[in-house]
Amino acid sequence: GSTLAVNDPEVFSCIVKEEKRQRKNIELIASENFTSPAVMEAQGSVLTNKYAEGYPGRRWYGGCEEVDVVEQIAIDRVKELYGADHANVQPHSGSQANTAVYFAVLKPGDKILTMDLAHGGHLTHGHKANFSGKLYEVTHYGVSADDEKIDYDALEKTAEEVKPALITCGASAYPREIDFERMGQIAKKVGAYLFVDMAHIAGLVAGGAHNNPVPHADFVTTTTHKSLRGPRGGVILCKEEYQKKIDGSVFPGVQGGPLMHVIAAKAVCFGEALKPEFKDYQAQVVKNAQAFAARLTKHGYRVVSGGTDNHVLLVDLRPNDLNGAIVQEALDEAGITVNKNSIPFDTASPFKPSGIRIGTPAVTSRGMQEADIEQVADFIHAAIENREDEAKLHEIREQVYAFNKAFPMPV
Ligand code: PLP
Repeated sequence: GSTLAVNDPEVFSCIVKEEKRQRKNIELIASENFTSPAVMEAQGSVLTNKYAEGYPGRRWYGGCEEVDVVEQIAIDRVKELYGADHANVQPHSGSQANTAVYFAVLKPGDKILTMDLAHGGHLTHGHKANFSGKLYEVTHYGVSADDEKIDYDALEKTAEEVKPALITCGASAYPREIDFERMGQIAKKVGAYLFVDMAHIAGLVAGGAHNNPVPHADFVTTTTHKSLRGPRGGVILCKEEYQKKIDGSVFPGVQGGPLMHVIAAKAVCFGEALKPEFKDYQAQVVKNAQAFAARLTKHGYRVVSGGTDNHVLLVDLRPNDLNGAIVQEALDEAGITVNKNSIPFDTASPFKPSGIRIGTPAVTSRGMQEADIEQVADFIHAAIENREDEAKLHEIREQVYAFNKAFPMPV
């Protein structure tokens, strides 16, 4: 039997229930995914016991011969995956990877130009409640009101006026392909560093379903747990010339000992992403998101920017006289997990924003294809229509559970 069940039934019970929730519900949070059992095995291993401050071959502790090998495997694989000169696989999270990049090349008060959070950017892209908004002088760019896509001409003009030290791009809720080549040209023209945070789309980039920022950016960060389908964590990729700065910025700059069990799990994830079937998976993620957008449009919903090029779509609920909070709650009752989300130019409060965000990485990992996605969109429409009828919502939930059973979680 499980020693956890015996030694700590309280915690064990939470894990069992969470496993059940993940298995039964349809998971549409765009930043979530199901890792492989191999990734979880590495993450749950004895490597958690090891201190290894420093880098392979240059540690402050003895006994690092095995973890040195593991970290080097992770580094080599992620460099191969993205064609990067240098990789640091130690950041504990996406936010810490971003912190290390800013600290490597900026000083407090420097100007940065970043994507507006309300248009899809992340907290670490200069939000006033985040260190990045407190330490640096932030100017935002965003999408155009006409087509809800990044307005590169306006961005270029702003960059010329502001002359930022660094431009950040990448997003948490942007359904369109980002033109990294153009971003690189703009940054070069104004003498700014280009910093791409590809957290959401890292899996798509690895699988060839989105253009690769690495050739165009000075720094690229990612989380490993979203579309890339690895353990929770972060990575920094950079050009050779920044290697020393980046490594020193991660350790001892912003972190102490690396999480060697997580780094081992990252290595496993990168190994999986290098396999040919990962390309098929990522292509399916995009096809599924596009099928989702089309079906919801058919049901009378307005999809922001008219569709999607990647794994995510945003639904504007204002034309239906609804908001994201109401819909998220109704879908929770129906066994479908999404998150409420602001949409570009939203005037509603972030607690009751005008949209929801839907992502397809997790359901695609469970094997859903376009026809299945259409069924999921139909469930969503039915739940929204019946949002005030709890009995009906629970009836839909039973249908959702039965449907989802055909798509087993990787265990
Ligand atoms: N960058 C982007 C674009 C994100 O969407 C996220 C997570 O939501 C992060 C960074 C932060 O990652 P973490 O939650 O691991 O700190």
